Amino acid sequence: MMELDIQMFAVPARKVSKTRKRMRRAHNAKDIPGMTKCPSCGEMIKPHRVCPKCGAYKGKNVVETKEAE
Ligand SMILES: [Zn+2]
Repeated sequence: MMELDIQMFAVPARKVSKTRKRMRRAHNAKDIPGMTKCPSCGEMIKPHRVCPKCGAYKGKNVVETKEAE
């Protein structure tokens, strides 16, 4: 196997421009693991479960909730 002689150094904050810092951090936002968006109300919900907010499952209303009335 080829040996990599790349070394990572600490870089002083003032040496990294705002743009470079922002470009690097553009990929840092992550979705909450194990959560999906409800197709009917857009709320973050756990998959394969009835939405606690609108009572919908697979786009159909299956449980009555306060907000659905
Ligand atoms: Zn919902």
